Amino acid sequence: MRMLVINAGSSSLKFTVFDFSWMGRQTVLATGQVECLGLPMSYFIYQKSGHTKSKTELEVVGERQDRGDYFNHTDAMKVVCDKLLDPEEGIIKNIKDIIAIGHRAVHGGEKITKPVIIDEKVKDIIRECISLAPIHNPANLAGIEACEKFFPGVPNVAVFDTAFHQTMPPESYLYAIPYELYKKYGIRKYGFHGTSHHYVAKATANFLRMPFEELKLITCHLGNGCSIAAINNGKVIDTSMGMTPLEGLVMGTRSGDVDPAIVLALIDRGMSPQEVDNMLNKKSGLLGVAGINSGDMREVIEAGEKGNLQAALALKLFVSRIVKYIGAYYAELNGADAIVFTGGIGENSCVIRAKIVEQISAFFVHLDSSMNANSVGVPAIISTKESKMKVVVMPTNEELMIATQSIDLLLSEGRLKLVAV
Ligand code: ADP
Repeated sequence: MRMLVINAGSSSLKFTVFDFSWMGRQTVLATGQVECLGLPMSYFIYQKSGHTKSKTELEVVGERQDRGDYFNHTDAMKVVCDKLLDPEEGIIKNIKDIIAIGHRAVHGGEKITKPVIIDEKVKDIIRECISLAPIHNPANLAGIEACEKFFPGVPNVAVFDTAFHQTMPPESYLYAIPYELYKKYGIRKYGFHGTSHHYVAKATANFLRMPFEELKLITCHLGNGCSIAAINNGKVIDTSMGMTPLEGLVMGTRSGDVDPAIVLALIDRGMSPQEVDNMLNKKSGLLGVAGINSGDMREVIEAGEKGNLQAALALKLFVSRIVKYIGAYYAELNGADAIVFTGGIGENSCVIRAKIVEQISAFFVHLDSSMNANSVGVPAIISTKESKMKVVVMPTNEELMIATQSIDLLLSEGRLKLVAV
C-alpha cells in the first residue's frame, strides 16, 4: 500500500511516499519538497530511497511567464506527480497506486478533534479557520485541491495540528478576557504541533512498555518552533502555544509569552500592527536576544561557548521559560512519569537538555550524563535509575503519524481493505 503525505506550507510543498506492508511495517519510498513557491526562483528537491538527491530549478513558462506569474501549489503538485510517475526515477506506474493521501493541516478550530476524510464540509471548516491561521490554512487548502486535481478518486485525509489539543479543559484554553470574545470570534488557546506531541507521547509509551492511557507525560517539542504539552492518560490537559503559534516558549525567531501591553506600547511609539507582528514572529526569540544575527540554536550555543555574553543570555532565557512551563505542568498533572524531548533541539542537543534538567532537580529528576551525551537523534532514556521522573529522547515523525492515522481512519470507515499478498 503506497501512501502519500503532503505538508503544504505558505512557500513550500513537502511530501513523503510510504509503503505499508499488510503486516503493518512501513518504508519510505521517496521524499522531496518544492521550495520558494510564489517567489522568482522555485526549486524541487527529490530523493528516491537508495538514490542520490536531485535539485531542479523551476519556472513557469509561456503566457504565465509573460504575466510575471510564479510557481504555485498546483504547479508544485504537478511536478511531484510527474516525478512519482517517471519511469526511471518514479515509484508508481499509475496514480491509483497511491491508495490515499494524508495532509498536514494546521487549524481545525473547535470543530475538528481527530483526523477526517476530506470532503466539501471539511474544506469549509479549513476556510472558516483562515482568520485564525491566515498563512497556513490557505496553503493547506491549495495542497488539498491540487491533490484532488492530480490524483482524482484517491481519498484525502486531513490530520490537524490543533486536533490532539482539543481535549484541554476550558480553564486551560480560555483567556481571562471578556467571554463574549471567545463566543464571537473563537479567541481561545488551540495549541499546535499536536501531531508531533501525539506521536512522541505514543512512541514513548511503547518505548517504556507502559500503556499510553495510564501515563502522565510532559512532551517538549523544541525545534525552530517550540511548544510543550501536559498529557494525562493520553489526553492533553494544557499546552504552551495559544490562539496562534506565537505564545509560550522562546523560539528561534518568535518571542513566546510577552506582556500583551508591550504590543500597545510599541504601537503607541509609532510601530504599525504589522511591524509589531513581524517583530514578534520573525525578529524575536533567540534571534532577537542573542545578537548574532541567527536564531539557529547550534550557532547560539557556539557563540555562548566562545564567550558571547548576549548569546549566553539568550540560552538562559530559552531554558528558563521551559523550566517554568515544566514546573507548571508538573503541578497541573499532579506529578509526571516522564519528560520527553523531541524536535531538532530536543533530539540533538545534550547541552540544552542538561541545562533544563539541572534546573528541575527539585522534582528529584536526574540525568545520566553519559546517556545524555550519547543519545543524539535516537530514542533513549537519559535519566538515572534513581530519578523519580524518566527523561526520554524521542525523535518525532509527523509524516509517519499522518500516514498511519490516515490509514487507520480509512480502514475503520471501510474506504480501504487490507489484502494479504
Ligand atoms: P523545524 O521546527 O523547522 O522543523 P527542527 O525541528 O529541525 O526545525 O529544529 C531546528 C533547530 O534544531 C535549529 O535551531 C537547530 O539549530 C537545532 N539543532 C539541530 N541539531 C542541533 C544540535 N546538535 N544541537 C543544538 N541544536 C540543534
